[in-house]
Amino acid sequence: MKDEKKTKIIKTIKIDVDKCNGCRACEVICSAFHAAPKYSSNNPARSRIRVIHDPLKDVYVPIYAGEYAVAECAGRDKYTIDGKEYDECAFCRASCPSRDLFKEPDSDLPLKCDMCEDEEEPLCVKWCITDALTYEEREEEVEEEEEEQEEMEIGLEALADKYGLDKIMDTVARMSMKG
Ligand code: SF4
Ligand code: SF4
Repeated sequence: MKDEKKTKIIKTIKIDVDKCNGCRACEVICSAFHAAPKYSSNNPARSRIRVIHDPLKDVYVPIYAGEYAVAECAGRDKYTIDGKEYDECAFCRASCPSRDLFKEPDSDLPLKCDMCEDEEEPLCVKWCITDALTYEEREEEVEEEEEEQEEMEIGLEALADKYGLDKIMDTVARMSMKG
C-alpha cells in the first residue's frame, strides 16, 4: 500500500574527541569480535574503528569505517580545529585506493563498521571506559515503498558483486525477450 509508514531504527555512535585518551581498547575489541572464529585473535589493522593520533597536535580522534570508495576523490577536505590544520584525508571514513586504512590486511577487501551486527550495544562503546563513545538509537518513519526500494538496491548490488553486472544485464534481457 502506498501511504503506509514503517519505522526504521537509526543507530549512531557519538564521538567526544575531548574524552578520548588514545587507549585503543576500541580497536582491540572490534578486531577481536570480527576475527574468524570470533575472539580468536586481535589485530587493530582489521578494526573498523581507528584512532588517528597526531602527537604534535596532541589529539586522538576515533574514526569509523564508512562506505567503500572505488576511486580517490578529486577534491579533498582540509580541516582546521582550534587553529591547527590537519591532513586532507585525516578524518575521512572511506576505505579508498589512496591509503591502507580500513582494508582487511590479508585480502585488501574494504572494511565497514557493521555496528557489531546483533549485539545489544556496539562493543567499542562498551569497552570505552572514558565515555568518548556513546551509542544512540532513534526511530525514523519511512515510506514502505522507500524501504522496499532500498532492500532491492542492496539485493541487486550483492548479485552484481557475485556474478558481474554484464551477466545480470544479459539475463534480464533474455528474460524480457521471453516475456
Ligand atoms: S576506547 Fe575510547 S578512549 Fe580508548 S581510544 Fe577508543 S575511543 Fe579513545
Ligand atoms: S560498532 Fe562494532 S563494528 Fe563498528 S567500530 Fe565499533 S566495534 Fe567495530
